[in-house]
Amino acid sequence: MHKVFLKPGKEESLRRFHPWIFSGAIARVDGEPEEGEVVEVYTAQKEFIAEGHFQIGSIAVRVLSFEPEPVDHRFWTRKLATAYELRRAIGVAGNPTNNTYRLVHGEGDNLPGLIVDIYARTAVMQAHSAGMHVSRVDIAEALAEVMEGSVDNIYYKSETTLPFKADLFPENGFLRGGGSDNVAEEYGLKFRIDWLKGQKTGFFVDQRENRVLLERYAKGRSVLNMFCYTGGFSCYAMRGGAELVHSVDSSAKAIELTRQNIELNFPGDPRHEAFAEDAFKYLDRMGDQYDLIVLDPPAFAKHKDALRNALQGYRKLNAKAIEKIRPGGILFTFSCSQVVSKDNFRTTLFTASALTGRSVRLLHQLTQPADHPVNIYHPEGEYLKGLVLYVE
Ligand code: SAH
Repeated sequence: MHKVFLKPGKEESLRRFHPWIFSGAIARVDGEPEEGEVVEVYTAQKEFIAEGHFQIGSIAVRVLSFEPEPVDHRFWTRKLATAYELRRAIGVAGNPTNNTYRLVHGEGDNLPGLIVDIYARTAVMQAHSAGMHVSRVDIAEALAEVMEGSVDNIYYKSETTLPFKADLFPENGFLRGGGSDNVAEEYGLKFRIDWLKGQKTGFFVDQRENRVLLERYAKGRSVLNMFCYTGGFSCYAMRGGAELVHSVDSSAKAIELTRQNIELNFPGDPRHEAFAEDAFKYLDRMGDQYDLIVLDPPAFAKHKDALRNALQGYRKLNAKAIEKIRPGGILFTFSCSQVVSKDNFRTTLFTASALTGRSVRLLHQLTQPADHPVNIYHPEGEYLKGLVLYVE
């Protein structure tokens, strides 16, 4: 195995179990490891401190273990079984009304660079690092073993998530099985999952618990689900007894998926309508008919330099909704930008509220669900922020 030696003192974060080693912390590398290879990491005093996947880039090593151990079939099955155990413990796996959940959430499951989402009998696997890409076949084998009896298909979807400079040539496709039945169930609601062409792994699993909360507030309300994608929030609002539900997304494909999902759960129900339109345009032209609004936009900032513009975007968007929501209205507003902190987001909502001059109260502070756990040693893993506001 190739060895990586750190600069003096650069082992500190590893002693606190942080799973990343930045290229600037490395003094020298013995030999020339391939991208995605497992390397051993030593302190300047030549003491073993970790092992992990090597990659050329700002994060040079993603730690797989703080013990010297082989990364083999037993390693992968043990890690995946631990992840599965957690999902059973929190009640999203082995649940008769739910078969949609995240089985592996990268660093949150001590598997940096790996995402696995379960949709009924299909696992969608995504690599965000060269190492997980290189190990995909081993991982799929272990996954099939751990999930035996509940998963038949493993679809690999990494064409857009790997660094294109590393000559990895990822191809999307089935590593196991190949079923086309793509209807999964989330807390008793059915969703058609487009893992072939959809965003991420095909569905936003991370909003599940927040959708449950929305359902509780939906009764008798007029709901606007802005940035609806596959219509997740819309289906919960319908089940919660909303008077009407309007779903809006700029993508015609998303609107089609939303219509299909509503039809799957509430065939012929006239309470729902969907519109393919830009969010800002829709908010400008709409009236004041809504008293429950969801704003779940895509990440406005992907990098630190984009933070200022992103906060401006969130402020404008939220001010429009707060201005127009009916008195006594409830706003569910989210940011999934990792660079936008909880404080940033809250301050932005403060400014947006002040711009409208309305009386606004904070009812709930939301985050990602327990199947997207945050490794306590890797606080960067917390990305989803949500606020539920009551507007007088
Ligand atoms: N709320 C969804 C996930 C939203 S993802 C869920 O629970 O599943 C963000 C969505 O915003 C995408 O579907 C994207 O098509 C849409 N979008 C991006 N920019 C937009 C814009 N300017 N106006 C309306 N929709 C937009």
